[in-house]
Amino acid sequence: MALKNAEVVIAGGGVIGSAIAYFLSLKGVKAVLLEKEGIGAGSSGACDGAVLMQSKKPGIHLKMAMQSRTLLEGLQEELPVPFEFEKNGGLIVIETEEERVLMERHVMAQREAGLDSELLDEKQLRTVSPHLSPHLLGATYSSSEGKINPLALTLGFTRGAMQSGARIVTGTSVVGITTDGEQVTAVQTDSGQIETHTFVNATGSYATQIGKMVDIDIPIRPKRGQLLVTEARPGLLKPCLLTASYIAAKYNSAAKKKTTSGGLSMDQTHNGNLLLGSTRELVGYDKRNTADALKQIASRAVRILPGLKDMMLIRAFAGLRPYTPDGLPILGKVDNLKGFIMAAGHEGDGIALSAITGKLISELIVHGETAVSLENFNLNRFAAEQI
Ligand SMILES: Cc1cc2nc3c(=O)[nH]c(=O)nc-3n(C[C@H](O)[C@H](O)[C@H](O)COP(=O)(O)OP(=O)(O)OC[C@H]3O[C@@H](n4cnc5c(N)ncnc54)[C@H](O)[C@@H]3O)c2cc1C
Repeated sequence: MALKNAEVVIAGGGVIGSAIAYFLSLKGVKAVLLEKEGIGAGSSGACDGAVLMQSKKPGIHLKMAMQSRTLLEGLQEELPVPFEFEKNGGLIVIETEEERVLMERHVMAQREAGLDSELLDEKQLRTVSPHLSPHLLGATYSSSEGKINPLALTLGFTRGAMQSGARIVTGTSVVGITTDGEQVTAVQTDSGQIETHTFVNATGSYATQIGKMVDIDIPIRPKRGQLLVTEARPGLLKPCLLTASYIAAKYNSAAKKKTTSGGLSMDQTHNGNLLLGSTRELVGYDKRNTADALKQIASRAVRILPGLKDMMLIRAFAGLRPYTPDGLPILGKVDNLKGFIMAAGHEGDGIALSAITGKLISELIVHGETAVSLENFNLNRFAAEQI
């Protein structure tokens, strides 16, 4: 790697690092992005592509997701790789009276926060999605949600950045960071040193390992999600779908435990394959699939979409969500080390939040301030916490 210095070095070639490289390139900053394997080798290449708002907490989380969705719509015209954005809406389906009461409250809070979500009864649900099981009592629905191809989006960001002069270096690991005690001065890689004063840690579930290189404690842990893929049968499910129990599992503090339970997510790709998922398991960096989890996912999926029982499953995979204790990413500068910027910990929302993250981190680097405050995302919110 004949590269001796760079204005900005980004570690991590997932959707987040790639989005940052792209938005920096729009501002004339030619970053160097270092990826230890290949682009999309981490969670960004092993996930669904749902661009959901209803799964975000009203407040800053939802606000960021709404802004990101708008940016993604515009990026369809800009990025050099088509990333199959389809704005077909999103459903959270309701199976019990208890869930209905919870989801009524959820919709009210989301509407107050400016999201166009609504409660559908059984009949309305069948109009939106006719193949769903008759046992469903209804759903919440937002027409502004959609889906994309996450790997294509990631490649779109990297290729877009390269067209404006960014360097994307794959097969190269960050192995150390040099400082003068106060400021980042260089990044060590397994093929040499790059001098820089700005380093971005966008390594998703691996961000903690980068933190250790400079004695910064970063409370991000890998949370495994297993997914099943069906054969292609277009037209079965237009909107993205979650069960109400999935929302409960996502925000339940019991999710800190190792668990395979917790609802269902389902969406149909551009080609017609259904992605059925997924687990939320704290099992370290283990990306294997387990028979037990796949059986649970398959049986939940048939319960919600009965037509699935005659379809072939063609493969299974698992990805590692970068989990933080409060479900929000860690973004921005860190205390006590100038030039070290965090952009990791998006858990199950990184695809949806990629564009706004790229935009805000590029603003921080170039202008020193951001259009949306990053205060809620600062690493120091965990200072006294144990994970
Ligand atoms: C089953 C599942 C379903 C999901 N569904 C959705 C969804 O529908 N919508 C949504 O918005 N999100 C979803 N997510 C979440 C989403 O996948 C993540 O939030 C997002 O991909 C995180 O992106 P990232 O760039 O931070 O991390 P990653 O994509 O993991 O990228 C980090 C990269 O850093 C590299 N790296 C690590 N260490 C080093 C090093 N030392 N030097 C250089 N490179 C290094 C890794 O190789 C990796 O490529 C899902 C996740 C899973 C697992």
